[in-house]
Amino acid sequence: MLPRLRDRLNQLLPEGRLLPDEVWQRRHRTIVRIALVQAAVLGVVALLTGEAVQVALLEAGAVALPVVVAVLPRVARAVQAAAATMSLLAASMLLVYLMHGLTEAHFHFFVMVGLVSLYQDWVPFGVALVVVLIHHGVLGTLFPHSVFGHSAAHHNPWAWAGVHGAFVLAASLAHLAAWRLNEQQGLRDQLTGLANRTMLVEATDRLLQHRTGAVTVLLLDVDDFKDVNDARGHDAGDLLLLAVGARLQGCVRPGDVVARLGGDEFAVLIANGPTTAGKIAERMLVALSDPVQIDGRPLGIRVSIGLASTLTTSDRSSGTLLRNADLAMYMAKAQGKNRLVRYADGMAQAAQSKVELVEDLAGVVASGQLAVHYQPTISLADGGTTGYEALLRWHHPTRGLVPPAEFIPLAEDGGHIVEIGRWVLAQATEQAAAWTRQTGRPIDMAVNLSPRQLADDDVVQAVADALAASGLPARQLTLEVTEGVLMSDVEQVVDQLRALRTLGVRIAIDDFGTGYSSLSYLRRLPADIVKIDRSFVQELGTGGPSTTLVASIIELARSLHLDVVAEGVETQEQHAVLEELSCSHAQGYLFGRPRPAAEQQPGRVRIPAPRSSARTRGRAAGFSAT
Ligand code: C2E
Ligand code: CA
Ligand code: CA
Repeated sequence: MLPRLRDRLNQLLPEGRLLPDEVWQRRHRTIVRIALVQAAVLGVVALLTGEAVQVALLEAGAVALPVVVAVLPRVARAVQAAAATMSLLAASMLLVYLMHGLTEAHFHFFVMVGLVSLYQDWVPFGVALVVVLIHHGVLGTLFPHSVFGHSAAHHNPWAWAGVHGAFVLAASLAHLAAWRLNEQQGLRDQLTGLANRTMLVEATDRLLQHRTGAVTVLLLDVDDFKDVNDARGHDAGDLLLLAVGARLQGCVRPGDVVARLGGDEFAVLIANGPTTAGKIAERMLVALSDPVQIDGRPLGIRVSIGLASTLTTSDRSSGTLLRNADLAMYMAKAQGKNRLVRYADGMAQAAQSKVELVEDLAGVVASGQLAVHYQPTISLADGGTTGYEALLRWHHPTRGLVPPAEFIPLAEDGGHIVEIGRWVLAQATEQAAAWTRQTGRPIDMAVNLSPRQLADDDVVQAVADALAASGLPARQLTLEVTEGVLMSDVEQVVDQLRALRTLGVRIAIDDFGTGYSSLSYLRRLPADIVKIDRSFVQELGTGGPSTTLVASIIELARSLHLDVVAEGVETQEQHAVLEELSCSHAQGYLFGRPRPAAEQQPGRVRIPAPRSSARTRGRAAGFSAT
């Protein structure tokens, strides 16, 4: 009860954030000038009200004296402010005295309390409050005639001191509210109302000071936000940011701070270690994966999250935490976005190495360092090769072979992927056409398309051009896309895929099952083939839950009249289970690794792998094995 009350009170009171030095100095100079002018004017008033010259000088001097301390260099700001405050209040007391307690003279106190609140600091504000209360209470009792201007107060000074005190207090509360609101305005993000960067840094510093345990910061960046802004306009972008802010807020615990750092970057401060924070981050990825409706159209949100905790830093500072979280976030982007990456030592070097790779990507197509390898796709019914998937390889002059998983996300970000993708498309269609001619059988070709390529307005034309140049019939070309293509604008992507299908090419959903809401997307995307992700296939036959999952994907695909390709088949056991489940096609090291075209023999019909007794056991047994 009491701690809760204290927390509530703390929320209402200003935090007493210190003003930036130049702002404070400007305000202080003005207040000092006012104090000096008041001293001079009151000296004149004293003479006019009949005080002796020496007395008038003494009185003006008393008002001016504290100013000496207020302007001393190398004195703490709080002391300077307290001294200036003393001068202002001395002026009020003198005025009331000279006016024989005239009620209107008391108004001066109110003005001074307001003036002092400009310091936005508890010390001068507290000094002002205490002095006003003591003056009214104590002096009002001792010398009622020089404090109060009417007889009622003279006869009952304590009661009237109370009345005056209450008004001063009320005025002070009004100033406190203004102070607090001004503070908030400088600490809140205008669009989302979340904490801004300043507030986050301050909250982090405070937490690091008071908490001995681990503190964690998450840094989130919306993936491809620029595309949303470009495609749907800034108002849609703003709505998206608002939705992100609200969903993030829904994932944290009371006490955690969600901030918008600017643009499409958010941060979350968590008073806990990386394990708890990791769970919160995972929750956020899930919470954001549900598309938001903007102007009645769904818009997918994906974010890259970097996590850094005090457990992986030597110095507990907000700067280091945020920098590390930023590096981890950068790695999350580089690893393909829409994921959580935890900061680890050596990330700074890794980031540097990435920057160098990005530089090397410019002009890579012309350099002749790229090659396309081909991996066969097998019909499980007869073991024959029905086609190939084109997989890109980069032979870097100093680093050797750079895997596509490493450089394709970078090529995406840098925009090089569009040019690279066209080159792969040309190579692969040429190769498939050549093999088709050689073997006299239609050899299919699958080419991977990244989200950026699909967002490119010219993708349909590029595919049409590649088909025309190579002479490959469109039905022999499959374009593979992941659910990642739905990141920006679902409708636009669906339109592009439809346009591609109109050419006659087929669309495959790659890495199926790894997205967050695969099943709902599957109904939305115009597709012909589903490729079951390697991670599920690899678990087949180990007794894990994957068999059920793979079985239901195959079932679902069949009901939607889609072909199924199981990826990453490495063992006879996996092969056998897939046959049991009546999966139509497969790909994997068991059947053939990706290799240069010269090392493939597309004409050869493979001997089917030895069948397990599964076929005779029937499919029902396959399901019940799980
Ligand atoms: P992906 O499209 O899912 O390609 C399958 C990946 O799994 C390939 O990795 C392949 O070598 C690997 N793989 C195939 N069978 C097996 C297996 O039995 N066991 C294991 N452990 N792995 C297997 P790779 O060639 O390193 O490519 C990685 C990813 O890079 C691809 O994943 C694809 O998303 C992307 N990629 C490759 N080439 C291109 C391209 O030309 N354009 C675009 N946009 N992306 C590409
Ligand atoms: Ca693929
Ligand atoms: Ca795949």
